[in-house]
Amino acid sequence: MTSFKDFDFHPSIEESIDAMGFTKPTAVQAMTIPVILGNKDLIACAQTGTGKTAAFLLPVLQRIMENDDFDGTKLLVVVPTRELALQIDQHLQGFTYFIPVSTVAVYGGSAGDVWDQQKSAIAAGVNIIIATPGRLISLISLDYLNAGKLQTLVLDEADRMLDMGFYDDIVKIINKLPKKRQTLMFSATMPPKIRELAKKILNDPVEVNISIAKPAEGVLQGAYLVHEKDKPDLIMDLLRDRHELKSILVFASTKKSVKSLHKKLKGEEFSCDTIHSDLEQQDRIKVLNDFKNRKFQILIATDIVSRGIDIDSIDLVINYDVPSDAEDYVHRVGRTARAEMEGVALTFINSSDVRSFKNIETLIGSTVHKLPLPPHFDEGPEYVITKGSDHRKLYGKGKPKKGFKKDKKTRKDQS
Ligand code: ADP
Ligand code: MG
Repeated sequence: MTSFKDFDFHPSIEESIDAMGFTKPTAVQAMTIPVILGNKDLIACAQTGTGKTAAFLLPVLQRIMENDDFDGTKLLVVVPTRELALQIDQHLQGFTYFIPVSTVAVYGGSAGDVWDQQKSAIAAGVNIIIATPGRLISLISLDYLNAGKLQTLVLDEADRMLDMGFYDDIVKIINKLPKKRQTLMFSATMPPKIRELAKKILNDPVEVNISIAKPAEGVLQGAYLVHEKDKPDLIMDLLRDRHELKSILVFASTKKSVKSLHKKLKGEEFSCDTIHSDLEQQDRIKVLNDFKNRKFQILIATDIVSRGIDIDSIDLVINYDVPSDAEDYVHRVGRTARAEMEGVALTFINSSDVRSFKNIETLIGSTVHKLPLPPHFDEGPEYVITKGSDHRKLYGKGKPKKGFKKDKKTRKDQS
């Protein structure tokens, strides 16, 4: 398994990855970051929510830091909509919190004075520009864009840009850029029009294609909004006297919570066992075999068993904690309803896991039904991303270093 450490990022970049709360690269990041660092052209196709933004931002920031070259526009990201421009800019604010890279996002509809500021930032050679095609064409025709130092062009959500009729604009933009550059295309789908564009603008590209399976049709998915303190009671409430369920798989995020949950359930006479990374390989195999052979009812696991191991006919999967990696959710839920059988997957969402669960819903492309808590429980948290958890996720672990001003957007225009 790849870790962010494997990429040898600059310490300030590693620090920002940490502050964003990313613990390991997603599949698309693991596959594309080495390609981009290796200066190759790329076409990458992966579903929404798989982490494509960081996949291109991190290696480009790494190149800027490595060369210690902050002179001129190095990266141009072309996106279909204002919303996406803002989203990428937000990511970028997180990743550049500890590094002196200047960025600007330009899109239609910004106020006149903002547009003036943006134009002068761009004329001054802001390091990273995120732009919608229309605004970019205006900048080019007004002769504000100086692309002489450009190293990388990214076309994000390329399929959507073509759907919105931006083909000619993209070609026009590309004709204004240096021939010697790295070009990266990201897309959620790979229709023939995209292949055609890729052929035209990419130079001997590496192709990365990740399609992950959606949860099987037969799985009934539900979720409880529940305070952390109430989770043990809720799981006992759900599992008590459910003898018709022969095999139940419970996932918790850490060894510690696996062990403490095991202790609680054991204490209440549930038939259960655990699997986690402290067990030797032979012990893991034994536990899994006993579970398959229905020698006990409930297996409590960290995510080491969520991938790869084939256990058929699990009746119920419970995510006691929301997996931080959305793809892990799909793998876990995939443990139930194998071979066309019906299965149920339930997830406990506490107030700080709302963001992660919304990411999961984006990834699977549907909303999971929120179930009411049993009557004697305290009301659960609301299904909204709270300001507090938001802040912690973005900037939780560190303060910006002295000397790095947060108002990077104006840094260049003042000089
Ligand atoms: P895409 O462009 O593929 O649709 P995004 O880049 O917008 O996906 O990322 C989707 C969500 O996943 C964002 O909220 C982002 O912060 C989060 N994310 C990205 N990479 C990671 C990671 N390695 N670990 C945890 N969360 C991540
Ligand atoms: Mg994206």
